[in-house]
Amino acid sequence: MHALTEQQVRRSFVNCSQGEAKGLALPKGFPDLVWPELELLGWRDPKAPLRGYLVVETPDGDQGRPVGIAVRAAESRMSPRTAAMCLLCQTAQGGDAVSLFTAKRTGAAGRNGNTIGTYMCADLGCADRVRTDIPPWLQDRNPAEVVADRAAELRERVRGFVDAVRR
Ligand SMILES: [Zn+2]
Repeated sequence: MHALTEQQVRRSFVNCSQGEAKGLALPKGFPDLVWPELELLGWRDPKAPLRGYLVVETPDGDQGRPVGIAVRAAESRMSPRTAAMCLLCQTAQGGDAVSLFTAKRTGAAGRNGNTIGTYMCADLGCADRVRTDIPPWLQDRNPAEVVADRAAELRERVRGFVDAVRR
C-alpha cells in the first residue's frame, strides 16, 4: 500500500457512520508503518473490543484509492484446540486466533441489515502472517517467492471481500 494520512484513513470508510470513522482508534504504530509490506491495514479497536477495521487500496485508474471497511467480531470464540483457517491469508491456526467477522454492506442493503461474514485472523494481522507464518508444505520453496505469492493471494481475497461488501 501507499502511505496514508490519518485523514485519508478516516475518510476511507464506506460502511460506517462518519462519527464512527472520526472516533475510531488508529492502529498501533500509525503513521510509521512499513506501508509497502501491507496488502491491507487491519486492526482491532482497543476501545471497542468487538470492532475491527480493514483498509485496502483498490485500483482506480493509475492511482490506488483507499477503501475502509468496519467489521464486527462474533462474541462467541472457537476453542484453541479447534483447527481453523483465516479465509483471507489462509493461515491455519488454533480456533482462538481466528474469528468470524461481519461487515455491514454499503447502501440500501446495509440499511436493511444486510451483512457479509467471513473468518479472519482475530487480530486482523494477515499482512504480517503471510510473511512470517509459512506453511510447512511451502518451506522448501524460495522464501521470497512464497511470501510474494501469499501476499498476492491475500490482496486478491481482501479485494474480493471489499467488493462483496460494496456490491
Ligand atoms: Zn489472516
